[in-house]
Amino acid sequence: MHEQIRRLRNDKSRRRCSPIDTSGVVLSYRQPESLNLQQQETLHERCEKQNWVGISDVILPEFGRCLVSTQKFKKDDVIVDYHGRVVEGVKFEDYIAQTPSANENFCMEIKHRPSYIIDATSEHCVKHPGHRCLGRFANHADSRRGVANIASTDVILDLIPGNPRVVVFRALRDIQPFTQLRFDYVDPVARALYKEKE
Ligand SMILES: [Zn+2]
Repeated sequence: MHEQIRRLRNDKSRRRCSPIDTSGVVLSYRQPESLNLQQQETLHERCEKQNWVGISDVILPEFGRCLVSTQKFKKDDVIVDYHGRVVEGVKFEDYIAQTPSANENFCMEIKHRPSYIIDATSEHCVKHPGHRCLGRFANHADSRRGVANIASTDVILDLIPGNPRVVVFRALRDIQPFTQLRFDYVDPVARALYKEKE
């Protein structure tokens, strides 16, 4: 275990409580009705306030900033959202070219129609400046190699006024405390870059 993760493990001040339990529920863009009102409200509040629990960021030599679990998660638990400025109606390449402040490594293109971009370049969301956004620290891992342990899911909260749309990371399998959380960027460049680190 990395020294940084061991230090995190020994830090008893880290707050712990239960994540949203979605066991048995398939979170899907096409099936927003699979989340009940209470689950949607909890999910929306956590996204809005960035008050996720059971995760922390650490710096590891090979990866830089990483996202790590500090508690156990069950398969399909929603762990964190990918949070940032929402940009609609612009092609990904155009947005990166036209926006000097945007760091391409922190911009995620959501390809469901209508497609949009989440720009998580800033550690602090403009709307929620008091909270750090942690989802942006999840590193890449190739799902074909079985290393990825979380996956992003596009969710429309259809029972909440305005039908807000969020992108969450859910656990692909049971995850033990102090595990690095990684998802597949599905990007050839990232897959090549991270290949040796797996
Ligand atoms: Zn925010």
